[in-house]
Amino acid sequence: AAKADGGRHRRYTADLDTSTDEEARLGAELRTALDRGEFHLVYQPIVELPTGAVLAVESLVRWWHPDRGYVRPDVFIPVAERTGLIVELGEWILRTACLQFADWWRHGVAPYRFGVNVSARQLAEPGFVSLVAAVLAETGVHPARLIVEVTETAVFGGGAAVRAVHELTELGVEIALDDFGTGHSSLGLLQTLPVRILKVDKSFVENVTMAGRHAVIATSLIQVANGLGLVAVAEGVETAEQAAELYRLGYRRAQGYHFGRPEMAKPLSGAAALPGLP
Ligand code: C2E
Ligand code: CA
Ligand code: CA
Ligand code: CA
Repeated sequence: AAKADGGRHRRYTADLDTSTDEEARLGAELRTALDRGEFHLVYQPIVELPTGAVLAVESLVRWWHPDRGYVRPDVFIPVAERTGLIVELGEWILRTACLQFADWWRHGVAPYRFGVNVSARQLAEPGFVSLVAAVLAETGVHPARLIVEVTETAVFGGGAAVRAVHELTELGVEIALDDFGTGHSSLGLLQTLPVRILKVDKSFVENVTMAGRHAVIATSLIQVANGLGLVAVAEGVETAEQAAELYRLGYRRAQGYHFGRPEMAKPLSGAAALPGLP
């Protein structure tokens, strides 16, 4: 993501600790960006180990600002959360991902499932579950195709977010716990939440081939998942060695640059544009 105005670009991508002024400016620009259509989605494959067959994709939002250049989602999503714009942006993300999946489906190239990241504020927003139901109906996507990815912190402490998770499950939507293992009560949450997918954070995957704490945790997490009948997805797999070691430990699902980078959906003109699944 190189850009002519490298200085500014660096400031907004590398410095997560934006000052109040910058945050206010960024917040206002997010509003404009949504109106101008500056956002788009990219999709990253989630594959089966060891075959590498694509089972699902995760949608990830991208913002290319006319002056700032590429702004990372971990910079602007928290700002959108604080200003409340995440509710409207999140609706756009959900609808866009569902429309894309419906298009893949029509062309017979849809992966089995697709994941959409949902932030804490969005999940706790009254009417979120009704919105999901409405968008699925409107786009003709079966609820079982959708995976809602929520972080542990979003559902920590109960309340509206936890109710929403239960209602989504009743709707037939799958719930994935994102960045699993990095929160405060990872294992405790599994006792009560109707979660079926654990996305094991890339920090545990990174050093899985070396003896050490991360490898021990990666091993424990797959045992917990298998013991509870849950599906564990190893995130951030970058090398064949990591993939092989994860497979040896019992992982059967993985995601990461080794298998595919997040990419824009290719236009579907006749020939199959995406590896499809039955
Ligand atoms: P996440 O949900 O944990 O997404 C995974 C992140 O890891 C993505 O970063 C992805 O590009 C990156 N990644 C995938 N494979 C690899 C790999 O092999 N190595 C490394 N180092 N990284 C890899 P991205 O797209 O920059 O998103 C960062 C975070 O921003 C996401 O973390 C998620 O929390 C948030 N985010 C992204 N898109 C959305 C969205 O549509 N809605 C919401 N609410 N949050 C989003
Ligand atoms: Ca995610
Ligand atoms: Ca994650
Ligand atoms: Ca993350």
